[in-house]
Amino acid sequence: MLKIQVAVNLPVKNILKLFTYAVPPRLNFLDKGWRVVVPFAGQTAEGFVIRRLTEEEADGADNVKEVTAALGDEPWFDEEMLATARWLARYYMCGLGEALRLFVPGKSSIRRKVLKDESGRTVLAGYEERFKEKFLLAYRITARGEEAMAEERELLARSPAKKAALAFFAAAPEKAFTIFELAEIKISRALAKQLAEKGWLTEVKVRQLRDSYAGNDAESAKLQLTAEQQQAVAAVSEAVSKNNGEVFLLQGITGSGKTEVYLHCAAQALQEGKQVLVLVPEIALTAQLVQRFKARFGERVAVAHSKLSQSERGDVWYRSRKDQAKILVGVRSAVFAPFAKLGLVIIDEEHDSSYKQEERPCYNARQVAAVRCRLTGAPLLLGSATPDLSTYYGALRGRAHLLRLTTRPTGGTLPQVKLVDMRKELEAKNFGVLSRLLRQELEETVTEKKKAILLLNRRGHSTFVLCRDCGQAILCPHCAVAMVYHSAGQVMRCHYCGATAPIPDECPACHSRRIKFFGTGTQKAEEELQRLPGVKVLRMDQDSTAAKFAHRELLQKFACGDYNTLVGTQMVAKGHDIANVTLVGVLSADSSLHLPDFRAGERTFSLLTQAAGRAGRGKEQGRVVLQSYDPENKLLHLAAAQDYAAFAEEELERRRRYLYPPFVRLLKITVSDRDEAFALATAGKLILYLQKLHLEGSLQDLPEIAGPFPALVSKVRDFYRYNILLKGEKLAPVKDAIMNSGFFGQRNLYFDVDPVSVI
Ligand code: ADP
Ligand code: ZN
Ligand code: ZN
Repeated sequence: MLKIQVAVNLPVKNILKLFTYAVPPRLNFLDKGWRVVVPFAGQTAEGFVIRRLTEEEADGADNVKEVTAALGDEPWFDEEMLATARWLARYYMCGLGEALRLFVPGKSSIRRKVLKDESGRTVLAGYEERFKEKFLLAYRITARGEEAMAEERELLARSPAKKAALAFFAAAPEKAFTIFELAEIKISRALAKQLAEKGWLTEVKVRQLRDSYAGNDAESAKLQLTAEQQQAVAAVSEAVSKNNGEVFLLQGITGSGKTEVYLHCAAQALQEGKQVLVLVPEIALTAQLVQRFKARFGERVAVAHSKLSQSERGDVWYRSRKDQAKILVGVRSAVFAPFAKLGLVIIDEEHDSSYKQEERPCYNARQVAAVRCRLTGAPLLLGSATPDLSTYYGALRGRAHLLRLTTRPTGGTLPQVKLVDMRKELEAKNFGVLSRLLRQELEETVTEKKKAILLLNRRGHSTFVLCRDCGQAILCPHCAVAMVYHSAGQVMRCHYCGATAPIPDECPACHSRRIKFFGTGTQKAEEELQRLPGVKVLRMDQDSTAAKFAHRELLQKFACGDYNTLVGTQMVAKGHDIANVTLVGVLSADSSLHLPDFRAGERTFSLLTQAAGRAGRGKEQGRVVLQSYDPENKLLHLAAAQDYAAFAEEELERRRRYLYPPFVRLLKITVSDRDEAFALATAGKLILYLQKLHLEGSLQDLPEIAGPFPALVSKVRDFYRYNILLKGEKLAPVKDAIMNSGFFGQRNLYFDVDPVSVI
């Protein structure tokens, strides 16, 4: 009997092993890549077939259970996807099953059903397939319908409704119209059915595609590319034809026409009959990019964002696999979509941290894309105004072709940036969120009927609630962070676990009644701005954009409505292009600069550059005001000058000196446990284990090990968190050593390879 090796898809992280199952003769077609249903630990589970066992191996495997069913009508994984998953599991330290489930929309293709007997005991765990195709009834004209019609001309003459309906179908003889489409043009289901009974129409079933992004198209213009754009397009197009997996870094200042380059490169790939994957940080924030792709390529574009329903996502995947969708625009998880003919991958804002998944498996979509490109030969085009330093360094070292866009084709120049010393504002008794300069600029802007964007990287109202007598900030009882005051509902909220609490009447520590709110969040800034003459303010942050298309609606409201000021968190800094914005203010340019993290500088530089890039996208020069308590800081000056090359040189030198990426690789191991002593003990044991391997000679290069030290937020949801940081030029041996040990399956250990943050 045929036997297969299966990775079981259960969200239990210690199922790292592969299991053997027997294949009943009716399922003899099963081979690697198929999804199956298997019995597992008294339940029903989804499984991924890794390979068929050889006869010899199969003979050795006795007493194995049988596969219950096969899912779908073809293998889900092709060779390339399997290879990518294998790489991912090893590189990011997770089980093969965990890696494979990333490739399945919703991470599972079945919904498990628990069946109970009369006494309430579970007798059988059944399942239901999730991506069952939904079909709609549709009609098209019968091939010889016109002849038939001619025969019954008299009959038709008496029925204008039938005649008109048939004329409609005859005008598009190839196309099947669904009953919903027909209803729109007042052809009833009953009428269509009558015509089908006569043999004039043919009944067909078409797959129902659910795409909540459809119908968004705007007119698109064909632009004359600039010389720099032409060069970039030519280089990438050539690589598309060669299909040799080349990597390109398109570094272009904000508004330099990177999107236009993407569109042309995509067109080239389509012309060669290939598919394109476009990754964006967040669909809501990059709605304009999506619209431009839709406008240029229409229905050939499918969109996959995090708010799609399970079945919508299933449809998008299906269209991509069947080569119906030629371009897939999506967020991080779209990097796992199946493609029939992948020919180009584009990653916009490639430096963005949203490409990194923060939970296990902590993969980076950019890295995964690079692997898929290497395996398929599709070129990889990375675009950014402020590339990730590792990408940039790679390009300097010849690992990627550097393409530059240095001007704005619309003729606009980069904005003029001014730094304001906030210490002087305090001296002048100005305690508001706006410096005098920014306030004056804002008033001028709104008087001239222009718009302003103000960035404040803190949501909520006040940043913390403090007792004036003992100085104690009010902390979340479950996490080691201060609660944030939110004016809506007048509550304090923890930004880590979401817990809320009323404002206490007295200090929990000293019982003083002198409780005060400190710091400024977006809500408080909004209130303060509302009081300024002529200022009509809109707020955009996580709290105001929780609903499905809230971002897009807010931006549309800001672009078209009579609001003139948009205040918000970093969301306001990204991707959108609103013509009339001439002023950008950064209320606290240093708020992210002093985090104890090696990427704090890079992140701040990139945020400030992105924010400044929102100003003056039209004809007029924009103005930018950066407010800071540390205005001598060199990084702020480089950001003000928007001098990425100088910033990169400086920052790379620092990284080289202190041994941070891209000069070393990092692995962050977090121990998280309710029992603090146990967490520390576990960390200690792991370090000892690695040192022992090294002494015994089975682990040659021991990386530098730092920690365990408490995470910046040392407790979240009642779990204490300690970090260990491993630094080394090559981490593969130490990763393999851990994965081959008992530590790997341990519940309280989390592995983060190439962490975005080390705190
Ligand atoms: P980026 O993606 O680099 O921020 P975009 O592609 O959004 O830049 O381009 C910025 C603006 O310049 C857009 O309004 C776009 O239509 C326009 N644009 C881009 N390329 C050209 C060109 N070659 N000629 C004229 N306008 C252009
Ligand atoms: Zn107190
Ligand atoms: Zn909390």
